Amino acid sequence: MNQCESCGMTLDEKTTSKFDERFCIHCQNQQSGELASKEQVKEGSINAAMQV
Ligand SMILES: [Zn+2]
Repeated sequence: MNQCESCGMTLDEKTTSKFDERFCIHCQNQQSGELASKEQVKEGSINAAMQV
């Protein structure tokens, strides 16, 4: 089982980036292939938590 090198989430066939299998779809933009910074990943999880 792989883990995303950026955020550490478990990677499966649904969450693995199509550009780079070391990263998940949340850390790598699936349109542009651009990699999110650790800060952006952190902000993303904070925003997601606050929306609940
Ligand atoms: Zn990730």
